[in-house]
Amino acid sequence: MTEIAVVHCGQLVPVSGPIVEDGAFVIRGGKVDWVGKTDEVPKGLEEFDAQGMVVTPGLVDAHTHTVFAGNRLDEFEWRSKGATYQEIAENGGGIRSTMNATRDCEDLKTQVKKHQLRLVRNGTTTFETKTGYGLKPELELQHLEVADAGVATVKKTFLGAHALPPEFEGNLEGYINALIEILPEAKKLGASAVDAFIEAGYFTPEVTRLYLQTAKKLGMEVHLHVDQLGPQKGAQFAAEMKATTADHLEYTDEEGIRALFVAGVTPVLLPASVYGLGKTKYPDAKAMMKAGLPFCLATDYNPGSSPTPSLPFVMGLACRYMGMTPAQALVACTSIPSQTLGLGDRKGSISPGFDADFVIWPYKDYREIAYWIGDVMPERVAIAGEFI
Ligand code: FE
Repeated sequence: MTEIAVVHCGQLVPVSGPIVEDGAFVIRGGKVDWVGKTDEVPKGLEEFDAQGMVVTPGLVDAHTHTVFAGNRLDEFEWRSKGATYQEIAENGGGIRSTMNATRDCEDLKTQVKKHQLRLVRNGTTTFETKTGYGLKPELELQHLEVADAGVATVKKTFLGAHALPPEFEGNLEGYINALIEILPEAKKLGASAVDAFIEAGYFTPEVTRLYLQTAKKLGMEVHLHVDQLGPQKGAQFAAEMKATTADHLEYTDEEGIRALFVAGVTPVLLPASVYGLGKTKYPDAKAMMKAGLPFCLATDYNPGSSPTPSLPFVMGLACRYMGMTPAQALVACTSIPSQTLGLGDRKGSISPGFDADFVIWPYKDYREIAYWIGDVMPERVAIAGEFI
């Protein structure tokens, strides 16, 4: 559809402005050209009737791990029988089990595409995705090459520092040095950011500082997994590194929140991983809102802690357990992540000049996207004005 008017949007939710009842918008050349009410639509255009349904911008997911193969069904079952994290690791579970499945996969490209299509089917039209299951320097680079399956707008992040691979057992520094050496190549392969898993038993600020500084010198941004499993002052480290995002933050206290605010770091909160691990300690979104710190909500789509591609599910968790309203949750899944990913002038809003990425939901009220549990699927998803 090079030129078309989408009409009779029961609620047109542009995100950047007020909801338009019986709204409409015009698409020209893959971009939004006009937004208003159905009875004001310019005459003579081909029309698509949204039949009174809710229309929002395509959702934007600022944190996913789609470059993997296999699943974690065994440990899912072990956990359901009461196995501890330690027991699961001893039985061969955890990141390394996905590393093995990913290394053994003969057609990783197909797997990545499958994961990314799942995101799109759930209403996500732009997302960040990470490597991190190759865990050999050369594999991490290869995984960057397949990280964009071409089904949506993708920002690639290099997450070599996800876990220590067996080849470098007992040699954390050696592994980090090997990663530092390939950062220029990672950048050439399209990684706009680096990431590290800062957690007890994984990577410390001390060991990753040079890796992150080197990436910054190359013009890459820094995203960091911090304070997920325990209070590590990871938020303060993200602030020190002037990271673009600090992700997780389940154990971040008010001091950490202040540090993020002062340094201009955007939190990316991942409640589905809390839920997925059967935990109850969600990040303190209320304290962040009180501090005036804008944040993203994201899925953390991965086979271990968060096997969900659904941002609507994440929005539902944020409304139920983190004190957010449906409107706040929608903003945290559209305009804020689009800005965080450097796409704030073309994604995350239905406004003139923006890409015509939008979702038609089979509802009358946009709050239903966060309200219903378990079957929230779009009626239609469009990217650059084309229905998928
Ligand atoms: Fe993650």
